[in-house]
Amino acid sequence: MEDLSRDLLELRAATKQFADTEVRPVAHTLHLKDEQIPDPMLAKMREMGFFGLLSSPEHGGLGLGAMAVAVVTEELSAAWFSVGALPARNWALAVLLEKFGTPDQKEKWLPKIVSGELQAAHSGTEPEAGSDAGNIKTMAYLKNGTYSIHGAKQWCTHANRADIISTFVRTSKESKHGGISLLLVEKPRGEDFVPPKLTGARLETIGYHGMHSYQLFFDGYEVRQENLLGGVEGKAFRQLMAVYELARMQFAFRCIGLAREAYEHAVSYAQQRVQFGQPIAQFQAIRHKLADMATQIEAARQLGYMVARKMDAGLRVDLEAGMVKLFASEMAHRVCHEAVQIHGGNGFAIETPVNRFWRDSGLCTIGEGTSEIQREVIARRLLGER
Ligand SMILES: Cc1cc2nc3c(=O)[nH]c(=O)nc-3n(C[C@H](O)[C@H](O)[C@H](O)COP(=O)(O)OP(=O)(O)OC[C@H]3O[C@@H](n4cnc5c(N)ncnc54)[C@H](O)[C@@H]3O)c2cc1C
Repeated sequence: MEDLSRDLLELRAATKQFADTEVRPVAHTLHLKDEQIPDPMLAKMREMGFFGLLSSPEHGGLGLGAMAVAVVTEELSAAWFSVGALPARNWALAVLLEKFGTPDQKEKWLPKIVSGELQAAHSGTEPEAGSDAGNIKTMAYLKNGTYSIHGAKQWCTHANRADIISTFVRTSKESKHGGISLLLVEKPRGEDFVPPKLTGARLETIGYHGMHSYQLFFDGYEVRQENLLGGVEGKAFRQLMAVYELARMQFAFRCIGLAREAYEHAVSYAQQRVQFGQPIAQFQAIRHKLADMATQIEAARQLGYMVARKMDAGLRVDLEAGMVKLFASEMAHRVCHEAVQIHGGNGFAIETPVNRFWRDSGLCTIGEGTSEIQREVIARRLLGER
């Protein structure tokens, strides 16, 4: 099952070593304290070059492809789901800037996004626009070269620590999707935001604690016209399409890493926990669960590799990216549930790591397009409707 190139094996080994020494030993304690990924850990992720995996060397990146994203994401997510999620924002914004940015936008932001010096967040979702992303109401009014933003956003992860938030705004009410633009909203770091024009309120969650998510309230926050991605209004949907495939494939590998860690904890517990005079791994009911878990993880991984390889070959993979996001997220849900079940009552205790995996897995079928939406996207393509 090991069909990775030598370079990818080396990258995986280096990432695993980083995860084993810097992330895994502290992840559970930080989760229990509801603390975010610490600044020194983030700094070491920058030193490792994780934020520049995809970008071209011209902009300071490593120029590695989608397979590198897959391998790194699995290792980081196995150590802590939140850490595997962290670089995704910079990766997506770097791709957007490389593909659509004006020369000035590239020069100003790309090297700092690629190095991780600037942290990115993305804000699309609103109270009344989740799956129906085109239903956003947040308006950006242009006057004298400055956009004034008014509206409420929901679920902006990493908003407090981000320096730049790629924000879906409506620049025209005339067309649902065609009236939406991507503004690159600069802001200082911190929980205070910029009151009263930009304020934020944290949304507390049962898991995914390393990154906090926020409601954002824009009340006349101003952004210069040159922060409009690509310099032309109404292009946000087309621009975001360019990163959907990457985002879904990357999200799938977060789920795969999480499920793998849950499975490994389940194996070790099943070998140690003795009931009726023998390790519970000897009971067919338990060992067959382990067999199913391992099989499903491997199936998701191979589907994910297929998607990433096609991406690296420049092929269209919107259908397959939806499939792997759907399959891996539901697989992670099942595997984390079974890992708790194998731990019995101990799995229900907050102190037990599998309890964290199970909590984190709650996000898998919701974030980056719900399972229901993925099925719809897949069905539409299968039925030739798009
Ligand atoms: C922890 C967390 C972090 C997040 N981070 C970010 C972020 O950084 N940036 C960002 O922009 N967003 C973020 N999100 C938002 C996330 O993308 C949305 O929650 C997701 O898209 C679903 O939208 P919703 O929650 O409004 O649910 P809704 O769209 O209201 O859906 C509710 C239910 O209805 C179903 N449904 C909706 N429409 C259909 C349909 N047409 N057919 C069938 N079923 C349907 C859904 O599948 C779901 O089961 C985050 C969410 C969470 C929970």
